[in-house]
Amino acid sequence: MPPARIALWVMTLGGIALMLRSLFGEPIPLPYALAAFLAYTLWIGLGVVLPQLEVFGDVLWRGDTEAKEVALTFDDGPHPEHTRRVLEVLKARSVPATFFLVGNKVAAHPEVARAIVDAGHAVGLHSYHHDRLYALRSPARITEDIARAQREVEAATGQRVSLFRPPIGYVSPRVAAGAQRAQVTLVAWSAKGRDGLRRTTVEEAAQRLIRGLEPGAILLLHDAAERDDFEPIAPEVLPQLLDAIDAQGYRVVPLERFLEVDEG
Ligand SMILES: [Zn+2]
Repeated sequence: MPPARIALWVMTLGGIALMLRSLFGEPIPLPYALAAFLAYTLWIGLGVVLPQLEVFGDVLWRGDTEAKEVALTFDDGPHPEHTRRVLEVLKARSVPATFFLVGNKVAAHPEVARAIVDAGHAVGLHSYHHDRLYALRSPARITEDIARAQREVEAATGQRVSLFRPPIGYVSPRVAAGAQRAQVTLVAWSAKGRDGLRRTTVEEAAQRLIRGLEPGAILLLHDAAERDDFEPIAPEVLPQLLDAIDAQGYRVVPLERFLEVDEG
């Protein structure tokens, strides 16, 4: 079990013990009770926003390997122009990637989703609407949303997809429960370019990802802007990143390879 999840269990039991002691024994001083409550709340918050801690569920965020292998992933597409530009760069460098697709964008551009698969890349789910409050929705609604995105991707590509990266990457207890019911694998990242933000420069994004190169790294970029309101920089970041990957002796492998070794 991930250490952060064990810590949550320990803190939960500790909290119950403190409560029982306050009820049946000597009440603990208020400042201590408040400090314990704040620490607990903070830990839950960190567990949601840092999926790599795997507090509320198992998350594939790094490959369990010693080999100098990394996986490339893209979020927020498909987009009729920008996704194709990313595909061109990947093709020129003969590099595989996984695209986490937004359901309603697949509905609008099914031919682009199909082009991704035809080019030999993998696809995953990135929710249907990219709802920013996803982590607060009910598990039933999340399960339904995942299933809807799944149907859309299957209609476009013929593939039944079970990799799921939640919007913004937050894994709340609700997201973990919804994903479990939908029988999908939660996927996060070990390094991200922050290129989903308009202000991020090509240089910044490339350097962030290059710093994150390590065996089993899962790198996160965006082939489209979340709201399609600016031009993504991934086509410019990729050449720099791929040069560094080559220069440091790393190899880009399909994300599924990390899935196999992550079991158990
Ligand atoms: Zn996203």
